[in-house]
Amino acid sequence: MVVPTPSLAAHTPVPGAYGLFPARSDEDAFIVDTWGELAPHAHAVALWGGLIFAAGMLADYLLVQPLTSWPLLLLVRAMVLAVGLRLAWVTRRASPADPRGLRIWMPLFQLALLMGQRAVVQLHGSASSYQAIAAVMACLIIFTYAPMVRPLQLWMMPAWVALASLQMLSLLPTPPRTVLLFVMILSFVNIVGWQLATHNNRSQRNAWLDRRRLQWEVAERVSAEQNLRHLFEVSPVPLMLAGQRRGRLLHLNQAALDLLDPRRLLPDPSQLSAEDFYADAQTGHMLTRALAHHEAFGPVDMRIRDSSRRLLDVMVSARKLRYGGRRAVLASLVEITHRKRQEHELRRLAHTDPLTALHNRRGFFLRAEQARRQCAPAPLALLALDVDLFKSINDNHGHAVGDLVLQQLAGRLAAVLREQDLLARIGGEEFAALLPGMDTAQAMEAAERLRRAVCDHALRCQGLRLQLSVSIGVALIDGPHDDIDGALARADEAMYRAKQAGRNCVELQGPAAAAATEPVSRVAGASTLAG
Ligand code: GH3
Ligand code: MG
Ligand code: MG
Repeated sequence: MVVPTPSLAAHTPVPGAYGLFPARSDEDAFIVDTWGELAPHAHAVALWGGLIFAAGMLADYLLVQPLTSWPLLLLVRAMVLAVGLRLAWVTRRASPADPRGLRIWMPLFQLALLMGQRAVVQLHGSASSYQAIAAVMACLIIFTYAPMVRPLQLWMMPAWVALASLQMLSLLPTPPRTVLLFVMILSFVNIVGWQLATHNNRSQRNAWLDRRRLQWEVAERVSAEQNLRHLFEVSPVPLMLAGQRRGRLLHLNQAALDLLDPRRLLPDPSQLSAEDFYADAQTGHMLTRALAHHEAFGPVDMRIRDSSRRLLDVMVSARKLRYGGRRAVLASLVEITHRKRQEHELRRLAHTDPLTALHNRRGFFLRAEQARRQCAPAPLALLALDVDLFKSINDNHGHAVGDLVLQQLAGRLAAVLREQDLLARIGGEEFAALLPGMDTAQAMEAAERLRRAVCDHALRCQGLRLQLSVSIGVALIDGPHDDIDGALARADEAMYRAKQAGRNCVELQGPAAAAATEPVSRVAGASTLAG
């Protein structure tokens, strides 16, 4: 039911015609709303009141002698019955569109009843005690049961008492004492009746106002809830509401359904739990831990699976709340799969040499540092390789051939290394290799294999046979405090010694102290494997 906004609003209200409420709109709404209660009431009063009053014609017939005034009495009673029937007709239905008939015919019926009663008394020619008792009862009935649809009705009874008193004093042979008694009793009945009527009316109006306020509040709540639900539903951000304890899904909005179940494979998502979408158990543990210690968390990146088990990257923010008396979690899931892929690609490009597809210098340092940490305390060897006299290839055959040579060379070096070894192009024609788990002797052997792999077979490139060689420096990572930078510098230094020793050879790093004091040729000479 649509409940209008209460007119207790800020604008100045137009007062109602009957002064029932400060605002006319309230008064009209009240009359329409209470019509359902008033109409059957008024209907009964009109029908029974009219019939009972008409039935008095029998008493008239028996009591009035001679019968000359009887037709007049009949006419009076018939007129009252006619008004009563008219009111009963008007109020025959409990829900008319216009309650105007009740407003007009109810007071008219009362007036007819009261004036008719006075006429009867006048035509009877005396005020009998049964008439007085009937008057008292009529008074109470009118005040108590007749719907007071106009304040005017309240004045009708006192006016009638005054009229009756005057009638008794002036027109009928009534002793003043009887009139006084009549006035006193009827005044008392009027005061009680007035109180009852006003109290009833006020209670009825207050109850109506309370009911209306309640309806309005309920309507407000319903509309607020509908609005919130609508916002939740149409939010472009996928939202998921789940129970906190078992993660049972309570609600998924449209965007969340599109994300998690794009092909609508799930018959009833509310039968599922949030865990059904985690990519792995670790994600679940992470979320459970985060929610155990925080009211809210995120945004965090995590991987989930949709209903067809497709992996998705999402950015999740979640907050604990109470929903319908139970503890729940509201989570937003922003899909970042595409962004993650782009990030991954950018990271890969930033760490990759575009010419050879090997790691570049930056990628090499990153991976080598990870390998160093994972490998400890096993030994770790590092090789620095430089192509001998590469400039002449460029000079003699062009830069493009030089590029192809570098690519082929990278393939040849990679083929010699193990899967766990790390090969990178760290400069123009300079390569580095990290060999986890190799001690000095093994590293020297591996370097020798690399050297031979290059010089033993000429490279074939664009119809050319190119004989190449590399000079290699070997260094060992020395304990947990040594780093890749230092080891590469030592491997470089050994590689330069290899160059000085005539190229196409392998040199081992010299001990720092020894390298500083001993002649370079001795250290190099000791480990050189001539090509
Ligand atoms: P050494 O035996 O002393 O190392 O002699 P080298 O000629 O190899 O040494 P140098 O450092 O003088 O020359 C390196 C050359 O490598 C110079 C440069 O033209 C070439 N080079 C560097 N980067 C690239 C590249 O990406 N493509 C090609 N084609 N050549 C490159
Ligand atoms: Mg060089
Ligand atoms: Mg070189």
